[in-house]
Amino acid sequence: MLLPLLLPLLSLLLPVDAVPVVPNLHTRQQTFTDCLAAAGVPIVLQSDSSFAQLSSAYNLRLAYTPRTITIPTTVLQISATVKCAKQYGVRVSARGGGHSYSAQGLGGADGHVVVDLQNLHSVKYNPASTLAEVEGGARLGNIAQQLYDQGKRGIPHGTCPAVGMGHPSLGGFGISSRFWGLMVDNIEKVEVITADGALRTAKPSWNGDLLWALKGAGPSFGIITKFYFKTYSVPETIVNYSYRFSGITVDQAVAAFLDIQEFAKSAPRALGLGVSLWGNGVSFELSGAYYDKTEQDFTDLFKPLLDKLPIPTTSEVNVKGWIGTLIRYAGAQTLSVPETGYDEHTTFFAKSLVTSQASPLLASSIRTFFDYANTQGVTASQSGLPWFVIINLYGGGDSAITNPDLLLQSSYGHRDTLWNFQFYTTITPPLTPQANSSSITFLDGFDKSVRRAEDGAYVNYADPTISRADSHTLYYGQQYERLADMKKKWDNDQVFWYPQSIDPAA
Ligand SMILES: Cc1cc2nc3c(=O)[nH]c(=O)nc-3n(C[C@H](O)[C@H](O)[C@H](O)COP(=O)(O)OP(=O)(O)OC[C@H]3O[C@@H](n4cnc5c(N)ncnc54)[C@H](O)[C@@H]3O)c2cc1C
Repeated sequence: MLLPLLLPLLSLLLPVDAVPVVPNLHTRQQTFTDCLAAAGVPIVLQSDSSFAQLSSAYNLRLAYTPRTITIPTTVLQISATVKCAKQYGVRVSARGGGHSYSAQGLGGADGHVVVDLQNLHSVKYNPASTLAEVEGGARLGNIAQQLYDQGKRGIPHGTCPAVGMGHPSLGGFGISSRFWGLMVDNIEKVEVITADGALRTAKPSWNGDLLWALKGAGPSFGIITKFYFKTYSVPETIVNYSYRFSGITVDQAVAAFLDIQEFAKSAPRALGLGVSLWGNGVSFELSGAYYDKTEQDFTDLFKPLLDKLPIPTTSEVNVKGWIGTLIRYAGAQTLSVPETGYDEHTTFFAKSLVTSQASPLLASSIRTFFDYANTQGVTASQSGLPWFVIINLYGGGDSAITNPDLLLQSSYGHRDTLWNFQFYTTITPPLTPQANSSSITFLDGFDKSVRRAEDGAYVNYADPTISRADSHTLYYGQQYERLADMKKKWDNDQVFWYPQSIDPAA
């Protein structure tokens, strides 16, 4: 009864930087840092020499200053960090691979406690369950290589070996995803530290609503310390293909894209397919992989489409194994990346656009898109702003991504996607305000050249220029309302807050 009267007095006793969410009379004289230290959590303070490196974003276009960084070696230390943060009203962000486009692993804003998960990176294949047990700080390349080495198993996931576990928490598309689903679709169970600091198991039969929320909006609901993924016996005959079309006209490009789209609508799930453009007008590449198939199977499937397209300038078709295909897409020599101490960076801006199967692109939108590439795109390249656009096929045919039943199994927002566009510019240092704004203006124009009112965006290509309210609609669509209810249930105080996190329902 006396608590309301004591609160103003209590706040005077607390250090200025401590805003208690739940006042705790026993610990009121501690600071947040004392709280972490008392729990034995390894911390890096702003005054420490390693702070600058540990707090620098992968995307150097963005810089945020965490309040403190913790580098836990145990799950208990993660729990203690979240409990202290909740007690002192500090926002918490997990940093996995650190590859968020919007530096969300640093909180996407100043003042967070960043829980750097690099020490929790083990990957184990369990032959009895056929599940992969992957800790929350592992990276995709190491996961792929270790699962292959341990049992010739694989999971669908994105191309960059250094990307971390934010990827499956928010979606996770790879060229094998039409075949086996997004990485998030293969999460069977997780162990997670929720906003109260408790370690919980979430699986369909236990905390099923939490699992649903974590599978698609994970960073808003907790820190996943361990993922249990379904795995697959990997195919060793994968047809890798690539056709480049250069020096064509806008008319030819529009006709070709319409033919590709028509083909895509009924493409078999074993086919991965993408169209990419980079920096030089209307040239484009059509490439992908056909899983567990022979070159003859590929020819039989693709020849009717190729017969309709312009004659390719270059073409390449060859058969690779699982690891060879991943390496090809990674554009690297090896899939292995440092488990700790990763320190690579680049400077870029990116946007995404998700179209639905219900409204395939019309010739008019495709034309404005290629016109933009051929005019502003050429100007941007010539003025030192390199760019690319990758248009990945998600849906069509019997794609594993677009099964509507999956809306009930994960909160991932877009189960009717046909194409996912990624627009990307690299900013050559130094990063000036002018270069920054040119890259944003240029990509906004690219996006607008093709966007319709009904189109969405992909949360794993987080665009920090999208407002909080718009991000909810664009990223999560019809799933947002239930996500807000889940946020109210699991994190009403918004311990896991960032500029585009889920808001609790009113
Ligand atoms: C070079 C590059 C290539 C990419 N290729 C692809 C691709 O092929 N396909 C694709 O779909 N995406 C791709 N992406 C996007 C990538 O999937 C996202 O940026 C992803 O969210 C990065 O995860 P991270 O753990 O590396 O980043 P972080 O910045 O560490 O984390 C991203 C978000 O996830 C949260 N998070 C991280 N770990 C956990 C955890 N264990 N539990 C709960 N929350 C966590 C963070 O708090 C943050 O909000 C690529 C990105 C880059 C930079």
